Amino acid sequence: MSLEAHKCNVKGCKGFIVFENADFDISNPPTVNGMYEFDNPSCTECGKEYKVVPHYVVIGIDGNGDIEQVKSACITQWERREKERKFEDETDPYEKIKKFIQLREYTYDPEMILAGYSKYENGYYVSSSMRDCIENLENEIQSLKSL
Ligand SMILES: [Zn+2]
Repeated sequence: MSLEAHKCNVKGCKGFIVFENADFDISNPPTVNGMYEFDNPSCTECGKEYKVVPHYVVIGIDGNGDIEQVKSACITQWERREKERKFEDETDPYEKIKKFIQLREYTYDPEMILAGYSKYENGYYVSSSMRDCIENLENEIQSLKSL
């Protein structure tokens, strides 16, 4: 399996166009509406539709039917963005702290963050990664502490 990712070209959209390229038969591309088209993936966030054409070029069609190019991205960028979205969509404070730790690839667990926060509140030194968690998770930490 081989996944490819490209950046969506919609202004302000952080989504990706992701598709699997393993099954494409380069020597016999399928035709859709008179154009070669292997696949028609949509943006993972805004839903804009794209077409995958031979040689894995991904194009967008603008409002006038003209072809627009999009930038290719690495799959790790897309995976990172998916982690970011899971974090943004999470409403449970404990889970949100866990997802933030995963996103930043820290080795903490939520209990360690709570302990770190108490130290920080009392004016003790905390590492820069702990401070990063505390600053980004203040609301979640507060709601866990008030349970
Ligand atoms: Zn998009």
